[in-house]
Amino acid sequence: MTTTPDTSVLSIDDITVGYGGVPAVRNFSASVRAGEILALLGPNGAGKTTTLLAAVGALPLMSGTVTALGEPIDGRVERNARRGITLVPDNRGVFHRLSVADNLRLAKRKGGGSIDSVYDHFPRLRDLRSRRCGNLSGGEQQMLALAKALLTRPSVLLIDELSLGLSPIAVQDLLPRLRAIADDQQMAVVLVEQHIDLALGIADTAIVLHHGRVALTGSARELRDRRDTVEDAYFGRIGHLSES
Ligand code: ATP
Repeated sequence: MTTTPDTSVLSIDDITVGYGGVPAVRNFSASVRAGEILALLGPNGAGKTTTLLAAVGALPLMSGTVTALGEPIDGRVERNARRGITLVPDNRGVFHRLSVADNLRLAKRKGGGSIDSVYDHFPRLRDLRSRRCGNLSGGEQQMLALAKALLTRPSVLLIDELSLGLSPIAVQDLLPRLRAIADDQQMAVVLVEQHIDLALGIADTAIVLHHGRVALTGSARELRDRRDTVEDAYFGRIGHLSES
C-alpha cells in the first residue's frame, strides 16, 4: 500500500497553549502546504494571535507539536525567523521615523530579498520611497509591513490582522496581492483576518476559532458556500468540533 507523503511546510498538531498555565487555545491542529493560504478567523479573544505566536515559537506549548520546514519549532524565535518562518505582527513593525526605502533596506539586511521585486508587487511604495513612514496612511503602512516581511524571503508567513483599521476597499486591494505572491513564491501563509468574506475569497482553507477551540474547518470554497454556518461558528452558536 502506498501512503501519500505529507507535503505540509507547517504542521500544527493538537497544540494547547496559553498564558501563566491557563490555556487560551486548546487542541488546535492545522497544516499548510507551500503556496497555500489558511485563513484563521474568529472574534476578539478567540485565540488567533496566541496560535500564531505558538507557531513561531514565541509562546511555549502546553502540549502538542509544531513542525515547520521539516523541523520541530522551539523557542528560538530569531533562529526560526532565519529559517524562513516569519510573523507580521498586528502592530505593523515599521520604523516611523525612517523613510520607506530605509525601512526596506533594514529588512533586506535580515533576509536578502530584492527591493525591486517588492516595489514591483507594491508600485505605490516605489512612489513613496522617500516618505517618512509616520506620514503614510494605514493601508500604506500595512503594505510596507508586508513588503518588509517578504524581503526576509519567508517560506512560511504568518500575518496577524494585516487589515487592522483599514477600509474594506484597502483590504480588497491588499489581499489579492498576497494571493499572487503566495502563488509566485510558493509561500505558505496563515492569515488572521477580520474581513471574513475577503479572507475566504483568497484563502484555500479556513479555520474558525471560538473561545480558543476550533469551531469550524474546511476548504475556503466550501465555507464560502456555507456562509451562515461560518457566522454561527464565529459567534459560538454551534458546538466546538472537538466536542461533537
Ligand atoms: P483579537 O482579535 O482581539 O486580537 P485573538 O483571537 O487574537 O483576539 P488572543 O490575543 O490570542 O485572541 O487571546 C486569546 C485569549 O488569551 C484571550 O482571552 C486573551 O485575553 C488572552 N490573552 C492574550 N494575551 C494574553 C497575555 N499576555 N496574558 C494573559 N492572557 C492573554
